[in-house]
Formats: sequence, structure tokens, C-alpha cells
Amino acid sequence: MPIKENLVQIKNSLPNHVTLVAVSKTKPKEDLMEAYDAGQRIFGENKIQEMTEKWEALPKDISWHMIGHVQRNKVKYMAPYVSLIHGVDSFKLLKEIDKQAKKNNRNIACLLQMHIAEESTKFGLDSEELFAMLNNANFKALDNITIKGLMGMATFTDDEAQIRKEFQNLRQLYNKAKELVPSLEVLSMGMSGDYKIAIEEGSTMVRIGSSIFGARNYS
Ligand SMILES: *Cc1c(COP(=O)(O)O)cnc(C)c1O
Repeated sequence: MPIKENLVQIKNSLPNHVTLVAVSKTKPKEDLMEAYDAGQRIFGENKIQEMTEKWEALPKDISWHMIGHVQRNKVKYMAPYVSLIHGVDSFKLLKEIDKQAKKNNRNIACLLQMHIAEESTKFGLDSEELFAMLNNANFKALDNITIKGLMGMATFTDDEAQIRKEFQNLRQLYNKAKELVPSLEVLSMGMSGDYKIAIEEGSTMVRIGSSIFGARNYS
């Protein structure tokens, strides 16, 4: 599979302000190394155990992004090294990340995951929960985490207008959140099927898996 060619082609098509997270979940370390050798240094995984095994085995200048739903009891395994957690969707989880970051003498960057899709199966906060959280004094007291921005996933559909509208909603929430927290700088939206629309709608970080590494086999 032409991982290197896929990666270079996608990379060259991205505007300078857009960061590429190469989503390598389920893929063997050899595939990640092919992307690494082509210059990629940011990888996204959705299972803490799998990510930790890859972190242990692969070069230490890789930044690891957790893009999946996070169970609180597993935060401790990634706290020593994770560089960005995309899927934070509760204050309880944020508190646990803060606690584990402190144990490791670190400050861990987080994104708040917003629920923008029609599907109820997708995780995330609604706008009311987002602003309640950002205004919460307890949240401001967490010294070992930094909220860097927002993340969201559009509905899985062929309807481009719907995807665009959902990304626009997320962008609007991001702009509002930025008024409260001016240091926000990351808007993580867009995957293989919809990253071009996401970039048109203001994404600063795209999470691309199958267009780089090929389809995933979950069997
Ligand atoms: C798997 C996954 C991706 C990448 O999906 P592709 O369609 O393979 O690009 C992006 N974001 C999240 C949260 C994912 O779980």
C-alpha cells in the first residue's frame, strides 16, 4: 500500500495553518514507520493500550494524540506521554486527567469534544454544557490541564450540505468559546471523507486515517 505517496499528497494539499493527525488505529507499527520516514510526526489512536504499546516501541519524537472516547480508569497509562487528548466530554474526566498529569509533573493539552452530529451514538457536549464548563470556577482551578480547543465529528452521510452545516455550527461554538478563553487555538474537525469541507469551514486540525493507511480491518 502506498502509504508514503498518500501521505505526501494529502500533506501537500493542506493549507499551512492546518495540522495533520495521521490516524493509525488498528495499523501495524511498520505502517506507522512508513509514514514516519515520510516525515509524519503526529499520530492519532483511539485505544489507550494500543497507543501505549506503539509509544513504547516507536521513536520518541512522535506526538501521540488520543482521538477516541476515554475511560477514566485508563488515563494513567497515557498521562506520561500523551500530547493531546481530543475527546474530553466531562468535567469528571478532565479532573482525572489533571490528577494524572500532576503525578507526572506535566500539563496535558485537551480538546473538548462537541456533539454536532445527528446520530445520538456519537459522544460529546452540547453548547450549554460547553459554556457551563468554561465558566466553571472548578475548571479554572485545574493547573495541570490546558484546554486548547474543540473537536467534533459530523454525521456519517453523503449529504454534503448537512456535513457543512454541522461543521459551521462547531466553528460558531469555537468562536464563542474563544471569546471566553482567548488562548484556544485548535479546531479539530475533518476525517478522510470530509476533511476538505472541514477546512473550508475553518478546521485547523484534520484527523485522517484510511486515506493514508488504507481501509481498516477490524476482524
Ligand atoms: C477513526 C477516526 C478518524 C479517522 O477516520 P478515517 O475515516 O479513517 O479518516 C478520525 N477521527 C476519529 C475520532 C476517529 O475515531
